[in-house]
Amino acid sequence: MIQIYIPLNFLGVIYREIRQNLTDLDKMFTLMDREQEVADAPCAQPLTDLHTPTVRFEDVHFAYDPARPVLQGVSFTIPAGKTVAVVGPSGAGKSTLSRLLYRFYDLQGGRITIAEQDIRTVTQDSLRRAIGIVPQDTVLFNDTVAYNIAYGRTGASQAEVEQAARAAHIHAFIAAQPKGYDTMVGERGLKLSGGEKQRVAIARTLLKNPPILIFDEATSALDSANERAIQAELASAAQNKTTLVIAHRLSTVVDAHEILVMEAGRIVERGTHAQLLAHGGHYARMWALQKNDGQNGL
Ligand code: ATP
Repeated sequence: MIQIYIPLNFLGVIYREIRQNLTDLDKMFTLMDREQEVADAPCAQPLTDLHTPTVRFEDVHFAYDPARPVLQGVSFTIPAGKTVAVVGPSGAGKSTLSRLLYRFYDLQGGRITIAEQDIRTVTQDSLRRAIGIVPQDTVLFNDTVAYNIAYGRTGASQAEVEQAARAAHIHAFIAAQPKGYDTMVGERGLKLSGGEKQRVAIARTLLKNPPILIFDEATSALDSANERAIQAELASAAQNKTTLVIAHRLSTVVDAHEILVMEAGRIVERGTHAQLLAHGGHYARMWALQKNDGQNGL
């Protein structure tokens, strides 16, 4: 009886601890589920040659559920230090690309390489240290703003945290709070707007300073001044980094080295903004539609 009681009690403590520390339990459990999907190969080595690496997706096939393929032979290269943007309708498989690069799941076919190393052969720890994600919805911990930013690099000094916050244009907002960087955020603290949370995520990523960046643009509409400011921050963060942008607003992608248009798990068009407009296909139609809606920054 005692033997059963102790582990259950222990689990209870962990559960309460998680409950108290996270603003979004569901998301964390989803993350934990994903973590269990993959394991380090027995002789996994840390990623090497990470100074502005090239990222390649080679004939990638993937399904969450075997009966429903999500990616069906996706190939593209993000050359070292360049930005590739992915656009397409909801459910096309765009965010799945970022989950696979972070190796939340393993592929059913093809491979993904970073600096010519198959990500299945390297340690997950080194892989995740090499990649910074600014997700659609940032999970904030029920802790101070400083903790939430420094989470990008444990051991960062207060000066480094502030420098990252300035670069992400969130410093003035934090400094205006009575407790400054010691302000508690999350469900039991200061509630941050979607844009403010995203800036904390950008500051976190800037502090982490990884060679590879993934920006999964928020679908929720930010007001246009906020959106332009965030785009400028993202563009400056992406300089000289190998960057994948999952874009919902076409104004974000105009300067990308290559734009991939995805539909139902396949790349149906690819090229620069000018090439795709000249081609007069899906992208040109999406551009015209967003222009009419005033959503592409025109
Ligand atoms: P959006 O623009 O709405 O973010 P997306 O193009 O990023 O869409 P994905 O999130 O990559 O699309 O999803 C691709 C497909 O995979 C969708 O049909 C989605 O329902 C499905 N899917 C996504 N996540 C899961 C999951 N964890 N389990 C099962 N199916 C999933």
